[in-house]
Amino acid sequence: MSELLHIYWPLTQNKIRRGMKNHTFGYVRDGGAKGHWGWDFYAKEGTPCYSIAQGKIVDVYGTPADKSNFGLTVVLEFKLHGCITYAAYCHLMGASVKKGDPVDGGQMIGFTGNSGNAHTMKGDDEHLHFEIRTSVRPLPGGVPKRIDPITVFETCPLNQTIFETYEWAMK
Ligand SMILES: [Zn+2]
Repeated sequence: MSELLHIYWPLTQNKIRRGMKNHTFGYVRDGGAKGHWGWDFYAKEGTPCYSIAQGKIVDVYGTPADKSNFGLTVVLEFKLHGCITYAAYCHLMGASVKKGDPVDGGQMIGFTGNSGNAHTMKGDDEHLHFEIRTSVRPLPGGVPKRIDPITVFETCPLNQTIFETYEWAMK
């Protein structure tokens, strides 16, 4: 039996920060010397972000005042092709869900921000750091337990903005 899971984009307007490949996934920084294990979606501080799928909030950690690592982070558990998978929303300024909450796809989960090691980023560099993980809270800074979000979204909004409409907004 196959499960149909609708995947939503995390923002109403989705575009990789500055349209640059080094804000996508892999060894994409410093000419391939350094890695980045998620996608940075451009997002003005305070932009609402949404659950990409029906699932459960399994972790909320860090604080908006953090100056290192991911800052305030919300982790969603969902089933991708039947496998338990996690989506992490990082550098947030606020969370509107708590650990254990069941969520619908497209439900608001918090507000983007500049917490953690993004605390100096302003203007065109404000963003949502978004990861697809196979573990709830892998160590920062490495590829293990993270997969390219392209496996979930099937397209990368590098040179285009992808607009999302959530079901609640159409009622
Ligand atoms: Zn990032």
